[in-house]
Amino acid sequence: MKLVFLGPPGAGKGTLAVKAVVLLTVPHISTGNIFRAAIAAKSELGLKVKAIIDAGKLVDDETTVALVKDALGREDARNGYILDGFPRTIFQAEALAGFSAVDNVINFDLPDASVLERLGGRRTCRTCGANFHILFGKPKQDGVWDSCGGELYIRDDDRKEAIAERLEVYREQTAPLIDYYRKKRLLVDVDAGPAPEQVLESFRKNFGV
Ligand code: ADP
Repeated sequence: MKLVFLGPPGAGKGTLAVKAVVLLTVPHISTGNIFRAAIAAKSELGLKVKAIIDAGKLVDDETTVALVKDALGREDARNGYILDGFPRTIFQAEALAGFSAVDNVINFDLPDASVLERLGGRRTCRTCGANFHILFGKPKQDGVWDSCGGELYIRDDDRKEAIAERLEVYREQTAPLIDYYRKKRLLVDVDAGPAPEQVLESFRKNFGV
């Protein structure tokens, strides 16, 4: 199954993706995780995108499309994938249509007030990139991610100023994709408001997994 997870920052795309890829046995391709790994490794790509990401702006389409095209061309993505955080612009969606036929686009529906609340309490694992929210539980050991033992930290772009910018960018550049994919009859709406377990449950019902 070839799926795109679409929605505002903090809607729970990454959280659901981590669980859904196990059910579907497909890779989780998160452009945000790829960029953060590049920043941590101080690679050429990382150095190029760090300031852009920290400011809450979008990395340029050409760079991002090339990364995704490469990831989808790999052996592990032959039977499908979950694309998390891509496409984020109409340009990216058109490019994607040129090299892969998506089965469905899951639209994570979440009001702005909840986005602000969620990003404020988000912690990310430095080792595996998983997200954790202080609203939805507590790690067994303070500051340590239960699953892999990595250090939990607050992403630079989860600071207040960057959050406002990311929401603005989402509204202007990414939200138009909702109509774009609805017209193509690919959109599946999911209420992203409930706790992660419930969002997973509605995903399973929708896709019979
Ligand atoms: P979130 O979903 O919480 O906003 P992501 O981890 O998906 O965060 O993305 C973090 C940042 O990485 C974005 O704010 C943006 O700067 C960059 N990024 C991720 N995906 C894309 C994309 N498809 N196009 C351009 N920039 C991207």
